[in-house]
Amino acid sequence: MIAKVEPLTSARALRGPFDYRVPREMPGVGVGSMLVVPFGPRRVLGVVVDTADRSELPEERLVEPLATLGRELPAELLRLGLWVAREYCSTPARGLGLVLPPGTGRGAAPRVSARRVLVAELTAAGRAALGGGVRLGSRQRAAIAALSRGAVPAARLAREAGCDHATLRALERRGLVELRRDELRRRPSVPGVGARGRGEVSLTADQEAALAAVMARLDTSPEVGGRLLLHGVTGSGKTEVYLRAVAAVLERGRGAIVLVPEIALTPQTASRFEERFGDAVAVLHSRLSPGERYDEWWRLRRGDARVCVGPRSAVFAPVERLGLIVVDEEHDSSYKQEGDPRYDARRVAERRAEEAGAVLLAGSATPRPESWRALRRLSMPSRVDRRPLPPVELLGMAGRAGSLHPRTRAALEEVRTARGKAIVLLNRRGWSNFVSCRGCGRVWECPQCDVSLVLHRARARLACHHCGHAEPAPSACPDCGSVSVGRHGAGTERLEQELTALVDPVPVTRLDADTGGARAGAATALGSFEAAPAGVLVGTQMVAKGHDFPDVTLGVVIDADATLRFPDLRAEERTFALVAQLAGRSGRGPAGGAVLVQALDPSARSLRHAALHDAEGFLAGELARRKELGYPPFTTLVRVVCSAASRGPEAAAAAAVRAALEPQVAAGISILGPAPLFRRVGRERAQLLVKSRDRGAAIDAVRSAVETAAADRSLRGAALSVDVDPQ
Ligand SMILES: [Zn+2]
Ligand SMILES: [Zn+2]
Repeated sequence: MIAKVEPLTSARALRGPFDYRVPREMPGVGVGSMLVVPFGPRRVLGVVVDTADRSELPEERLVEPLATLGRELPAELLRLGLWVAREYCSTPARGLGLVLPPGTGRGAAPRVSARRVLVAELTAAGRAALGGGVRLGSRQRAAIAALSRGAVPAARLAREAGCDHATLRALERRGLVELRRDELRRRPSVPGVGARGRGEVSLTADQEAALAAVMARLDTSPEVGGRLLLHGVTGSGKTEVYLRAVAAVLERGRGAIVLVPEIALTPQTASRFEERFGDAVAVLHSRLSPGERYDEWWRLRRGDARVCVGPRSAVFAPVERLGLIVVDEEHDSSYKQEGDPRYDARRVAERRAEEAGAVLLAGSATPRPESWRALRRLSMPSRVDRRPLPPVELLGMAGRAGSLHPRTRAALEEVRTARGKAIVLLNRRGWSNFVSCRGCGRVWECPQCDVSLVLHRARARLACHHCGHAEPAPSACPDCGSVSVGRHGAGTERLEQELTALVDPVPVTRLDADTGGARAGAATALGSFEAAPAGVLVGTQMVAKGHDFPDVTLGVVIDADATLRFPDLRAEERTFALVAQLAGRSGRGPAGGAVLVQALDPSARSLRHAALHDAEGFLAGELARRKELGYPPFTTLVRVVCSAASRGPEAAAAAAVRAALEPQVAAGISILGPAPLFRRVGRERAQLLVKSRDRGAAIDAVRSAVETAAADRSLRGAALSVDVDPQ
């Protein structure tokens, strides 16, 4: 038999798969098998993507695999990995890398494996001895008693019952105890912020209707599936609909995947699933230890767990007989992967659901125009408790000094007096966003990127938010010696100090990438804000994610139209979502709430619609605008970025890609650029934008143009990256 193998190497120019002859002594090799194969002078891991009876290669050039790992990728995941590679113009190896079992490593030996521990359990004779009548030493008696309720790891017996190894061996010799090596599950802990035990609740009419629509899709034709958009305002109980839908899927013997934007920022969603379904839930995310990841993945693969909850990478979880994929907060940009392959988990979820005949259920209070147009809508326009959405007031800041409007100051003072809770959003971290010399006008810039440095005062450093470069904050100008250094603009750090002075003694908690970057940083900040009777939570867009704090009565957005000042086709959509999401965090309890939105230009369309809680009106206008300009979802955009360590090669590569694309222009593809991009992490960059109404044609054209350029030895100084559906 011939195995067609994709070697897992990072080279872009390879054209696999490659043929290997499988010897008779290597049984069980088939599609999905993982093999160690000789590849040129090296030995590499490869995945069998197909098999054949004969090869095109002459007999003498065929070689045999060195070993089989005896493990197989499920066919569904193998196909999905290869599809991602094609759809996002990446390589098969990188696509397959997304679906491999965790800890696979590069050779025959996995880097991570199951943890086995010695476990003791009573035999029938041992259980009989519980009733007495058997002569036992005091340690032996303690051990038997400790085992009365079932098997226990030996290490725990030693710790809790003071029963050492020798005692257990002695009991084993007497036939009272059985000792064996069992797999011990390494359990990831899910932070439980905001996870109040809700138990069984009765559904609202809207929830009933939404659930019925999901069930209808599940039942009428289980192989067809369907794509649904659950458009529900914040507090309308979307999570309860997801929970019931998952329960229905489990009852039908199928599995489910629940995607959430980020576990640390939406802890209550993950913990509510664990609360409802217990061990049937596996959690997969990047903050797990390698051992935890391994165990959770295999629990799904074996079918011990049938629901996977996690961020974007969980879309590749090995869930068998998939019946449902939920995409919670589907507007969240974290569903897009930054590195190659730059996949969008929402699109991968659509594809996987379609292949598996599963239902796709995307939910949001502020859906994307793409989903609004393409998915069947289920609407939940009111909150479960019938409380109204809070009134939103737009405050113009043009010509005003300081970062807080008088109305905002007054509202925060009320929070102080009432000892209440408020959330304040400013989507800019640090102290000031640029620093300049008042003597000569020098602006402190990153030596690696063409951007200004941001002052972080608590750490007394200037930092680059693109590459991580940091240097001490200046006390004088190195060019003219002036000690008058101006700090311009305000970030969350400065706002935190201003708020602290304003609301003292109410505590102020800051949540942004500086405070929430560490493993538990975000959960700690959210936890302490939740636990305190009064407080102000200030931070970047992280504070507007799906938390539910019923005692928040005031929401404030500072500089809400900052995003609109940059040219970006999604700027309107982002601004609308940010303001509407923050508004949804306020007034979820009996005290009601209010929202204040500060902006330079409060007449912006996205702000006006957000103030009216009018997603429908906003999306209708946004889709009309996109259609007129020929933007997604009416076209597909593909971005190609060429970069190089010095100026020149990046432009040459971009010109070569453009030349290779040129013949496709007649076929309905338009090309914008090359245009230079700002230097980043020391790399000169140029970009091309390809646009077409025909998605497949645009992707195929770019893939082939990039492969041509990658194979051109004269362009070796440049790196190419492709981003389909850039955000
Ligand atoms: Zn100066
Ligand atoms: Zn930089």
